[in-house]
Amino acid sequence: MIKYELKCRECEHQFEGWFADSAAYDEQSAAGELLCPVCAGADVGKAIMAPNIAVRREGATPSRAQMAAELRRMLMAVRRQVEENCDYVGDAFAEEARRIHAGEAEERGIFGEATADEADDLREEGIEVVAIPWLPRSDA
Ligand SMILES: [Zn+2]
Repeated sequence: MIKYELKCRECEHQFEGWFADSAAYDEQSAAGELLCPVCAGADVGKAIMAPNIAVRREGATPSRAQMAAELRRMLMAVRRQVEENCDYVGDAFAEEARRIHAGEAEERGIFGEATADEADDLREEGIEVVAIPWLPRSDA
């Protein structure tokens, strides 16, 4: 058995229909045997399904502004998380990362500025580095 979400194109009613398989659905659909339980209309087809990702209200697609706000909220959370749990080492980031890697400095999370070249060098040396999109504080 297979279940389809069906939609009446005449009255917009959505309902579920069970079929032996997808071929059975196609047959009944082609034969006009699928009837809307509300208005008895025969113009019934599969409802379009969409994955339920980041949709806050039923049937409402987030606008660009909402998505930008959501992204910003997430990045601010990352920033807060890093600031609370890591030491800021500024320009000395690459140097400090090497010292920690070599066991010369206390092992801890650090963050700071590094050039792309420095970051590449660190990665080649086997030191894990991630670049974080850093947003200016809006509440500063
Ligand atoms: Zn209908």
